[in-house]
Amino acid sequence: MNIEQEINALRKELHEHNYRYYSEDAPIISDQLFDEKLARLKALEEQHPAFYDPNSPTQRVGGAVTKSFKTVVHAQRMYSLDNSYNKQDLLDWEARMCKNLGVDQVDYTCELKYDGASISITYQDGKLVQAVTRGDGIQGDDVTQNVKTIRTVPLQLTGLSIPEKFSIRGEIMLPTAGFLAMNEQRIAAGEEPYMNPRNTASGSLKLQDSKAVASRPLECYLYQIVATRPLFSSQLESLEAAIRWGFRVPKHFIHAPNMDAVFHFLDYWEQERSHLPYEIDGVVIKVNQMAFQEQLGYTAKSPRWAMAYKFKAAAAETVLESVTYQVGRTGAITPVAQLRPVLLGGTVVKRASLHNADFIKELGLHDHDTVLVEKGGEIIPKITAVKLEKRPLDAKEIVYATHCPECNTLLVRNADEAQHYCPNALGCMPQRVGRVAHFISRKAMDIDGLGAETIQLLMQHQLIDSYADLYSLKEVDLVPLERLAEKSAQNIVHAIAASVTVPFSRVLFALGIRYVGQTVAKKLAQHFGSIDALMQASVEELVQVEEIGERIALSVVAYFRVPAHHQQIEKLRSAGIQLSQTVAAPASTLLADMRFVVSGVFELYSRDELKAVIEQNGGKVASSISANTTYLIAGDKMGPAKKDKAVSLGVPIISEIEFNALLKP
Ligand code: AMP
Ligand code: ZN
Repeated sequence: MNIEQEINALRKELHEHNYRYYSEDAPIISDQLFDEKLARLKALEEQHPAFYDPNSPTQRVGGAVTKSFKTVVHAQRMYSLDNSYNKQDLLDWEARMCKNLGVDQVDYTCELKYDGASISITYQDGKLVQAVTRGDGIQGDDVTQNVKTIRTVPLQLTGLSIPEKFSIRGEIMLPTAGFLAMNEQRIAAGEEPYMNPRNTASGSLKLQDSKAVASRPLECYLYQIVATRPLFSSQLESLEAAIRWGFRVPKHFIHAPNMDAVFHFLDYWEQERSHLPYEIDGVVIKVNQMAFQEQLGYTAKSPRWAMAYKFKAAAAETVLESVTYQVGRTGAITPVAQLRPVLLGGTVVKRASLHNADFIKELGLHDHDTVLVEKGGEIIPKITAVKLEKRPLDAKEIVYATHCPECNTLLVRNADEAQHYCPNALGCMPQRVGRVAHFISRKAMDIDGLGAETIQLLMQHQLIDSYADLYSLKEVDLVPLERLAEKSAQNIVHAIAASVTVPFSRVLFALGIRYVGQTVAKKLAQHFGSIDALMQASVEELVQVEEIGERIALSVVAYFRVPAHHQQIEKLRSAGIQLSQTVAAPASTLLADMRFVVSGVFELYSRDELKAVIEQNGGKVASSISANTTYLIAGDKMGPAKKDKAVSLGVPIISEIEFNALLKP
């Protein structure tokens, strides 16, 4: 096989594995083997740029940067859908259509109505050539580079009788779990969480850096094939063809022979939708026969042959009892509506987030207002309206807090931010406790056993002033504290001591510098190599680093201007915390005769670096686990199959930190 053939074979194979993994949830090779093949392809492509292919599976990782998105006119307009809210609306619609068509009955397809960002993707000769957002329906933005990173979008189609050129429409979604995980990371970095998955999905498509898009857990469902000539005789056939060609189509679509069957589907999903891993806001009902679709045609806005049925958001009326304010670790203030408890969609709701001062203003909220709370697709209940007719006569408009509810410091608000802040970072209890809680959290120093209450007790007893003092705690300090048994005191002290091996990038994240999340911390650690170098860096130097913008740079510089932070860092230094990148271990024979398997994603090393370190120290790296394997080194997101195999063969599973310990003679 020559190089070109090998490249082509790898591409074909990887396209197939991608499809099996992401669209069918049924992979047939291990993640590691997949990664190895992908790495091989990437290397070959780099060595032989003549064989560049814009649709290669290596394009998934992103890299292209779009400075401004080109406007593209849709070859066929992207219509919106008429809405219906009850069954009578649907019966009326059916009657209109039957009259129009001169028939007694039509059959339908029912598809879930995904609440995401609509997209139109064009394929030519089976290859993805362009992806355009809906825009105003007539023209949208070219977001091809970003859409290519979404793994459920096929870059290359498979199967027979694929039309030379066509477009397919669908919805780009952020599943709930991925959305929540993204928000967790943002909160950990001291950033405001995103409001809802839909806006976050459409915002993702407009990111300039496609690598950032690739890192988001976006998915795509495709449901409508559009071509210049009719390709199918029914919507059902077109969905089935789309599946054969490699598209992921709405998971739960059905063919409904009549309106009764449609109603059945609606009732079912109205109940079941809360169990779906993503948000839907209704069902789309489409006339199945294409001949009928053509006869019915379009109004100025929407097809006459399709109808959205919108689910009612679960809503309830209740009374606002008060507005309280939460203070986060970074001092950000979140106003919270305390509500008279009310039953909503099966759970008792007592609180709703009010986000910020602007949100309260927009609602025009007054004391003791009667409000409408909804839990639609959204995860957190929200106040959607105020019942003006029920407002007490003497009610006063809510005045936003001027001072911190915890430490009474005057709140500040920067011109370009929605959130108020308590600037008393060093004296405000929830901020002080929050910073320690962040420092010990799993993705930071990973110190188990200390809850927020214990931290507060430690502070109240003046046993610690900041996280840096954790390292001078002794068991005897902890035992007298309420609720702390001797055993757990011992465990905590051990866990604190063990955290000295946590790598520098995680220490940097643990410090809790505003806007320095895990990814930014890694970039900074790699670039500067040590806390001392980072402390010296100017804003100009910081913005030179990939992905570091001015906002982050200013925050880093401001952090190191505070003398108390220097004292804390010096305490961490004397405790032996890693304040610089560990340099690659020198060559040795420490790992001679050991066989390693490496799986997952690591904090301290890239997978290749880890393999290199093993080999430099005389160890061997194998791709699959056998009885001869000495250790499985497990990172984040390790494949479950690997883990099971290691367990069943009794191969010890170690972390990268435990691996580092092996390198210490
Ligand atoms: P609306 O935005 O309320 O006018 O609803 C129309 C939008 O619903 C379309 O533009 C699509 O983006 C979206 N949609 C979601 N799921 C489907 C589906 N299964 N079939 C058609 N459109 C859908
Ligand atoms: Zn405060």
